[in-house]
Parts: sequence; structure tokens; C-alpha cells
Amino acid sequence: MQSKSSALLPRRRFLQTVGTATGFTVLPLAYASRVFAEENSVISGPKVPDIAATKLDEQVYCVISPWGFPSVENQGMMSNVTFVTTQKGVVVIDSGASRQIGEMVLRQIRKVTPSPIAAVINTHYHGDHWLGNHAFVNENPDVPIYAHEKTLLAIKTGQGQFWTHLMERSTHNATLGTVVTPPNKIVAHGDVLDFGDTQIKVHFYGTAHTPSDISLELVGRKIVHVGDVAMDNRIAFMDDGSFRGTFKNYDALEAAVPGALWIPAHGNPGKQVLAHNRELFEGIYQSAEKAVQEMSGQEGAKALALDDSRVKKYAPVTKGFDENIGKYSALAYLEAESASF
Ligand SMILES: [Zn+2]
Repeated sequence: MQSKSSALLPRRRFLQTVGTATGFTVLPLAYASRVFAEENSVISGPKVPDIAATKLDEQVYCVISPWGFPSVENQGMMSNVTFVTTQKGVVVIDSGASRQIGEMVLRQIRKVTPSPIAAVINTHYHGDHWLGNHAFVNENPDVPIYAHEKTLLAIKTGQGQFWTHLMERSTHNATLGTVVTPPNKIVAHGDVLDFGDTQIKVHFYGTAHTPSDISLELVGRKIVHVGDVAMDNRIAFMDDGSFRGTFKNYDALEAAVPGALWIPAHGNPGKQVLAHNRELFEGIYQSAEKAVQEMSGQEGAKALALDDSRVKKYAPVTKGFDENIGKYSALAYLEAESASF
């Protein structure tokens, strides 16, 4: 965690910036750098230090990222990249926040197998889940990149530029040379992607963390990659999300694959990831509902949340909690208020 560095984009500002991403955000310095890069193709950010992949089962590996928002120090390495070795090649799930991170993951893949990259799957449109696509297209120009249609649309209508610039700015151009490489195949709920000995089933239950989240089940293995629908002891940004939608997603996922190992894109995989996240979110959301009934406003929602036993249980172990509980409570309050009509 590098949050004390003065070179960092402050967390709150990062989340606010992300939360207001509604279109093209032109940042003069980053923009100038990109133009320079395009005219001088040799200009690009440095390599990202290797993080060895963690083996989750015989064919499933996860490059687990340390906690942090994008910074000079972490070069944008802030989210997990999962890969599955199959009969038809390697399937990458969420590709990291830059071409350089994708290349680092490729180096880890090559320690395990020489097989070609068979597919990339992006769980949603936040840039730390798809900017690394560029590296895998460089490796295999024909690679299919799967995502929900809302992810593709968001990347093509603003999130692509927004995230490219945001990563460059917050890492002081460590991600430079990363070109927006959107998904090229659409998937929907219930689709099953066949990789010979491995089938990957798509689960989509509407808005949770964003309107576009897909979760990916490795069929028959009780392993589900949930992207940012749930996090392990971390607080997700929820500006585009829904607490009620998150509970609905958890209900559906737990019913579809009971007892699964859940792989989050932030934090460690585990069987309790959904249960723990649900408890924290219920503490926040039910406090907000109570505040709506009492008409005590967003401050009331925050006070009730901080006093809730479930929230108290997870607050000390949840990274980013103190900085974001006010915003979370406010978002929960607004959602509870609109749901009450
Ligand atoms: Zn996200």
C-alpha cells in the first residue's frame, strides 16, 4: 500500500474522478504525452515487476495484486489477473490496467505453459480490467475478447479514453504506450464458452458494481470469477453500482454455484468472499434504509452504519474503509430513498 506518497493521486480524488466519468476527459499533460507517444512509437512506460501467479487448482492461476489505487509506485498494478490453461489454449480473465501489466502476466503464463492465448474475458468497463487487452492482442492478433455488450459500449463511448488518461496521469506515464483495445465478442447471461476440457459459463444479473458486470463460472469445478461484484476486505467504488443489485447478484450466484470458490479482482480468492461482502453491505444499506425511515439524512445513515455491528466487524480489516464510508453511506441512502417511493 503506497497511500502516503505525495506522488499519488489521493484516493478520494481518484474515486471522485472515476465516479464522474461520463465522457471524454481531456487532460492536457496526459494528452500531450499520448500524442508524443503516437509520433514516437518507441516511447512507452517501463516494465512492471513480476508477481508470480498463485495456483488455485490444476488449471487455474491468479496473479494477485497488492492493494492500492494507481500510483507512480505501483505502475497501475491494482487488480488481479486470472488465467486458465485449457485444451484450446490459455483463457485470461480481466487483463490488468495497462499493456505493461498484461505483458507481465504473459511472462507468468509462459512459466506455466507455452500454449497460445485462446481468449480474453473482461468482467466490466473499469480500466483495470481491460486495458491490458493490448498485450494479449500483440501476442495473438486473432484473440477473441469477450465482454457484456454494455462493457463494449461504455469503452467505446468514453470509458476507453477516460481510463487511458487516468492511468497515465496517476502513474506518471508508467502506462504510456497502452492503446485502447476494446472487446470484440459479446456474451450474455447463460452463454457457455467451450475450450475443450473447460467450459466457462457467463452469469449476468443486472447492475451490481456497474451495469455491465459478468461473473464467470468454471463449469463443474465450483470456481467463479466475480470481477468486482465482490471484493476481499476491500471497499469497491459503487458510483455506477447498486446495493440492492449486489444482493440480487449474490443470491443468484450462490444459488447457481453453491459452495464455490469466489475469485475477486481485488484481494484474495476464498469461499467466504461473497458472504463477508454481503454482511458489510447489508450493514451499510440497512442503516441507510433506517435513516430514510427516520428522515435523518445522509449523515444519519453514516452514523447508523458506523454503529452497526456488521459494519464494525469489517471496518478494521477493510482497506479504504475510513476514506469511503461517508460516500458509501450517501450512495446507499440515495438508493434506499428512491426504493422507498
Ligand atoms: Zn471495477
